[in-house]
Amino acid sequence: MMDKKQIAHVLKEVGILLELKGENKFKTQAYANAARAVETFTGNVEALRTEKIRGVGKATQENIIELLDSGTLGLLDELRAEVPAGVQQMIRIKGLGAKKVRQLYEAGIETVDQLERACHAGRIAQMSGFGRKTQTNILEGIALLKQYAGKMRYDQALSLAEPLMTILQNDSRVDALSFMGSLRRRCEVVRDIDILIGTDDPAGLTQSICEHPAFGEVIDRSSQRIQTRLAGGQEVDLSLVAPERFPVALFYTTGHKTVVKQWQTQLEQAGLTLEWDQILQQGKPLLFANEAAIFNLLDLPYLPPEIREPEWTDFRHLPNLINAGDLRGVLHVHTTYSDGVHSVEEMAQAAAGLGYHYVGITDHSQSSTVANGMKPERVYAQLREIDRLNACLETIEILKGIECDILADGSLDYSDDLLAEFDFVIASVHTKFNMKEGEMTERIIRAMSNPYVRVLGHPTGRLLLQRESYPVNLEAVIDAAAEYHVALELNANPRRLDLDWRWLRKATERGVKILIGPDAHRMGGLTDTTQYGIPIARKGGLRKDDVLNCFTLEHIRAFFKR
Ligand SMILES: [Zn+2]
Ligand SMILES: [Zn+2]
Repeated sequence: MMDKKQIAHVLKEVGILLELKGENKFKTQAYANAARAVETFTGNVEALRTEKIRGVGKATQENIIELLDSGTLGLLDELRAEVPAGVQQMIRIKGLGAKKVRQLYEAGIETVDQLERACHAGRIAQMSGFGRKTQTNILEGIALLKQYAGKMRYDQALSLAEPLMTILQNDSRVDALSFMGSLRRRCEVVRDIDILIGTDDPAGLTQSICEHPAFGEVIDRSSQRIQTRLAGGQEVDLSLVAPERFPVALFYTTGHKTVVKQWQTQLEQAGLTLEWDQILQQGKPLLFANEAAIFNLLDLPYLPPEIREPEWTDFRHLPNLINAGDLRGVLHVHTTYSDGVHSVEEMAQAAAGLGYHYVGITDHSQSSTVANGMKPERVYAQLREIDRLNACLETIEILKGIECDILADGSLDYSDDLLAEFDFVIASVHTKFNMKEGEMTERIIRAMSNPYVRVLGHPTGRLLLQRESYPVNLEAVIDAAAEYHVALELNANPRRLDLDWRWLRKATERGVKILIGPDAHRMGGLTDTTQYGIPIARKGGLRKDDVLNCFTLEHIRAFFKR
């Protein structure tokens, strides 16, 4: 069934499509209002059927009921069919609202490509309400849109792939099964879903897969390969091999192609030929029980998939990579005191249930009004509540933290006196992203120099496939982190995964600690730490000693007091 967020999303889209169609302002506004009302409604989703809610009128409530009953909305389908697809795509260009897109549509521009050409010809700058600056912004937005097209985040890929894996696992003809490529390497963003199947019955299995609706529309099929497209446009690539060839195929299709190429050359020098599903010696295939046996041939230890990346230059001397079991605590957790869904106690109990010894609660500070940031009175109320809970919770200790906004000038959102009340402070940028690099870097470093700041939250502000990092000199930020003993966050929310893993080693080599924080806004979000944070930490070469939340409670308290 749909949740409030999904319903709000549909209503918002209806509002936008109505505006694009040129419907009157009241009607379009009604949908925007209803979307906001649903999003902020605190009751149960079922109550949306009957309750009178400010901002939800009769028509929109009927739409909501239709969505709850059927999961779809006829009106939305009709609107989507009426407004050209290219125009709907233009809405996704950063900085273009429905009003401007409608103006473009009325001027005869119906696709992103037409819009791009018009910008290059300088025609958009001349339209009323646009100007040269908007034209430049649109071109930048189009470049981003193209860069993001056809890609998905790891978590999105995983949620699409898992049902397919279940179907295959339950098929007795499937002898071995694995992801391949970037999905197996746990890359933060992937292009498609690649699955490798070991089977003795490729023909029969291919037939079944092509007939199974879950795999979507078949684009191409051959004796060893099936390509399909899911309803949302994502591509699935399935390769079938004989079970005895599975280890080599897995080896070949997992590593980044630059890395595999190097290994191929190395094998060649030893008189062996690496093909995609076999290794030949004087024309005869060698047999391998598993991937480890192939690495053995290369005189390498077994390399976990996530590190088979060109950024790794020395596979011979691997650090002892962090494992989920090394984590002792979880920090960067929101509650109902700001924009979280669950209470302090619920989050603490959930963290205890996951085996953590401590949990660091970090709600938003006062200037984050959209995130229901805390005024000082509420801070004190929360601190008292944590004291009460700590007095009775047995298996877990709650640390008093705050995710404090870094204001435009680099000062913090609370006075030092108030900051002194917390066990630790995470400082984060949530506003004014459009500064110049020098200004932004200075702003962040000034915040890090505050004696109460212990962690820099999501250091670049990126949202994968949605928003680029703000301009910032990370070398300088890492230097400042080392100087001021501030840890950098690897935010484990799969939309962020920020700091990018390619920077992690650069930080730890300078002695900077990394916090793997889930930025959890609900109990279920706590596991982002292990599900997404740990693989990315391993990609970045982190060892347990590099990671703040692998410290014991005593040790982390000492780090915070410093
Ligand atoms: Zn944040
Ligand atoms: Zn947060």
